[in-house]
Amino acid sequence: MSEKILNKDNWSEFVNNLASSQKVWVMAGEEAVEFVPLSEGVKEAEGVLNATVPPKNVVFPQTETLFRFLYGQKEVEDLPEEVEEMVVVGIRPCDARAMSIVDNLFSWDEDDTYYWDKREKTTLIGLACNEPEINCFCTSLEGSPASTEGLDVIMADLGDKYYLQGITDKGEKVLEGVSGQLSDASDADKKAFQENAASAEKKIKRSIDTTGIPEGLPQLWEHELWQEVSNGCLGCGTCTYLCPTCHCFDIQDELEGYNGRRCRIWDSCMFSEYTLHASGHNPRPTRRERTRNRINHKYNYFVEKFDKIACVGCGRCINQCPVNIDIINILSKVKEAL
Ligand code: SF4
Ligand code: SF4
Repeated sequence: MSEKILNKDNWSEFVNNLASSQKVWVMAGEEAVEFVPLSEGVKEAEGVLNATVPPKNVVFPQTETLFRFLYGQKEVEDLPEEVEEMVVVGIRPCDARAMSIVDNLFSWDEDDTYYWDKREKTTLIGLACNEPEINCFCTSLEGSPASTEGLDVIMADLGDKYYLQGITDKGEKVLEGVSGQLSDASDADKKAFQENAASAEKKIKRSIDTTGIPEGLPQLWEHELWQEVSNGCLGCGTCTYLCPTCHCFDIQDELEGYNGRRCRIWDSCMFSEYTLHASGHNPRPTRRERTRNRINHKYNYFVEKFDKIACVGCGRCINQCPVNIDIINILSKVKEAL
């Protein structure tokens, strides 16, 4: 496990050096911050804790062509094409944990090659959080502001420099490739990293004790709380689109002249069409059933299948819901009802 220091003055050189041998994803944008491939003109976001859109699109694009079909031909055009090595710089620990959680889904009954081709070629360089945001609650879900779960390298802001620690062989290899910009960390640097991590953990204001929720949810199937917590919901899907663990998708065929493509597109269980049957029947006809499903999927079904809660406490669904629906409040009501 190597421990290195990167002087902030060398940041551009560091990312450009990384980009010389792989595709580098960085946080960019002003109002809606997201991870984008580094290229000329991309301005890295500054002063934001986390991206509005999590970097799940790196391995699970919002729209992905699965294959193309051509008029008059029985064979389809084979996709996916060769995937290049990629590195995500500055992913937060909660989002890296989310990727590890979503891995379970994409290797559940069989490995999803579209996902795994990209996932295996992706190195995650995480950035520990020194100043968690108001709705962060990662510590309630086995995470922490400097958790290394799912990361290949963890990086921490120490003022005028970054401390970097290799976690996996993949991470060590990436660090070796940029060793020209790095120097060895001292004991004092390591101590500063640990002190920052402990202090950040104390700054987390929100929490929920999840004990009993996964097992208890089935008892509350017909409980009035679902009506109460979904009354204001607009069904916009923001909470699910921006959730790093949400992974629902639709498969659609799109025609392009006589030819066409089959694509996989992010979908949301908060949309009425999501469960609409061809007969016109909808088993989740109102937002009450859809909200109940969102919570049950994360806190019960996923736990039953994979023994993990599919929520990392990133707080995005709280921060971005246009009508202030708050998952911690919903979970508190679940606890009260139980
Ligand atoms: S973001 Fe809020 S309003 Fe939109 S679907 Fe989710 S809970 Fe409903
Ligand atoms: S449910 Fe909300 S808090 Fe949990 S991971 Fe998804 S967006 Fe983050």
